[in-house]
Amino acid sequence: MIGFRKVIRNRIEYRFDPLTHEQSRINPDRAKRLKQAESDIRLKEIIRESRATCVFCPEQIEEKTPPFPEAICKGGRIKIGETVIFPNLNPFGENHAVGTLSEGHYLDLDEFSVDLLRDNLLASKDYILSVYGHDREALWPIWVWNYMPPSAGSIMHPHVQILVEREPVPQQARLLEKGKGYFELNKKRYWEDLVAEERRLDERYVSGNDHLSVIASFAPRGFNEIQFIFRESSLAHLDEEEIDEFAHGLTRALRGYKAIGVGSFNLITYSGPVDKKLDYYSLHTKLFSRPYPKGVYTSDTGPMERGYDVWVIDTVPEGLANSMKPFFD
Ligand SMILES: [Zn+2]
Repeated sequence: MIGFRKVIRNRIEYRFDPLTHEQSRINPDRAKRLKQAESDIRLKEIIRESRATCVFCPEQIEEKTPPFPEAICKGGRIKIGETVIFPNLNPFGENHAVGTLSEGHYLDLDEFSVDLLRDNLLASKDYILSVYGHDREALWPIWVWNYMPPSAGSIMHPHVQILVEREPVPQQARLLEKGKGYFELNKKRYWEDLVAEERRLDERYVSGNDHLSVIASFAPRGFNEIQFIFRESSLAHLDEEEIDEFAHGLTRALRGYKAIGVGSFNLITYSGPVDKKLDYYSLHTKLFSRPYPKGVYTSDTGPMERGYDVWVIDTVPEGLANSMKPFFD
């Protein structure tokens, strides 16, 4: 059973994630402030200046990025369409690779085509399976996309990061444990029940079919947080059709983001392991906005998030779902 629990104190909604019970706080009045699309003249300059020395641009990428060992990939780099995957020179995890999304140095949110995203996802899956083929303990894939510097992406050129680790990251381990507990108690997959309930309520449900559903999170940990929930349990098990649907969904969400004034985001995946299909778990991804890239901006996380694990959110999930729906029609 899915419970969307919230209590209201001092006009602030304390919302609790239906699975993990993690707390988010939303002040609906504060969140409904209309924000105009932002812009920054300096951003255009930064894009132009960074272009000249960019090691992810086609002229430099072969020379300035390292190759994989032949065992991982013949020829040293995995290439599909405009995507090139190579080892991360400054890793923070195991089997940490970088994959460019485009040959273009800068793409606005509405300029990412289905082809660019599909090719990147296919190449990333190849990388994950190749690493696993080489090391049977590399079980836990991660695919993250940080878009523009406020998201912690230090390189402007569109790219994702792919990791394949021996252990699930702490939040992934928590989701697996909670999901397993829910399955044992209810004989149903939590994410299946969540999607069914969101579809019935139709307050945060955006779009979906049998393979993939899109909802705005009830208790978000990011502004404008959208979830893509898959039927499959792992990134490594997505077939071409599912990857294609995900690519389509992402382009729609990014067009919707641009329309509501978003200029930076993070996309994170919570994936089950490569080696088996889990009956109690659904692969899902969270897309959430970050502050608009401009000279000086107010950060969207402060002491409550960094120090107390309380997520103070300025965007209302139900309003976000309404803003997104037209882009999925
Ligand atoms: Zn570039």
